[in-house]
Amino acid sequence: MPQTKIWTGDPVWLADVLRAEGVNLVEYPGWRNRGHGDFKDIRGVMVHHTGSDNATAASIAEGRPDLPGPLSQLHIARNGTVTVVAVGVAWHAGVGMYPWLPTNMANWHMIGIECANSGTSPTAPHRMNWPDQQYDALVMSCAAINRRLSQTSARTIGHKEYAGRAQGKWDPGAIDMNILRADIQARIGAGRGTAPTPRPPVPVGLYADVLLFRGSEGPQVVQLQRQLGITDDGIFGPETEAAVRAFQRRTAGLKVDGIVGPATAAALRLELVPEPQQVS
Ligand SMILES: [Zn+2]
Repeated sequence: MPQTKIWTGDPVWLADVLRAEGVNLVEYPGWRNRGHGDFKDIRGVMVHHTGSDNATAASIAEGRPDLPGPLSQLHIARNGTVTVVAVGVAWHAGVGMYPWLPTNMANWHMIGIECANSGTSPTAPHRMNWPDQQYDALVMSCAAINRRLSQTSARTIGHKEYAGRAQGKWDPGAIDMNILRADIQARIGAGRGTAPTPRPPVPVGLYADVLLFRGSEGPQVVQLQRQLGITDDGIFGPETEAAVRAFQRRTAGLKVDGIVGPATAAALRLELVPEPQQVS
């Protein structure tokens, strides 16, 4: 049964939904009792590569001297074998941000998948060094989890999209996340995705007065441009509008209109620039 409300707590159903999807599943001993505490609401899936083509499921379950396992809930070997190693929280996400995740808290909201893969290089083309069996198992696993949670594939993200360049993360390497999401969505099928998008953990009320659009100027536009990572000339022109639309398009729940109102400002966690005091 797909989830009709936001799932809260550990994904005790992991092995069942993966097996039902048709993956070659291995249950690592003790997975039902492994984890760094309990999940909060599960918002999606985060995909990683291990950094080595030969990393084992045991290494993900048990961890390293400097970082105790589990390091994710699932491991996918190069032959497509999926091993569920933990049901509770795992240390896979580290610090980072994404519009519908609380900053630096993704471990408590995202199921992690570690794929045994070197990642090739940060600029490698899609699927270089990803055997068919491993890639297909990844698509099936993400689809099974997203579907179980009544989510679209928009809720599968890569570690590089969360932590990104600031943290030096580029995994999963040689995976174009948009292509992966399209492949996952094709597997999920149409008519799914009824789970409400979590609201950004920022009160929209704070942004009640924000309204920036083509033609706006000034320090608040400079701040907006900085947060969008574009030229901060303080003039809301075509480039700014395009960047706003791109942000709205990749943020579920926002209207794609190129206008920064309270909802878009909240999703962006726009840093508000105080109005200059009137001097009389
Ligand atoms: Zn990672």
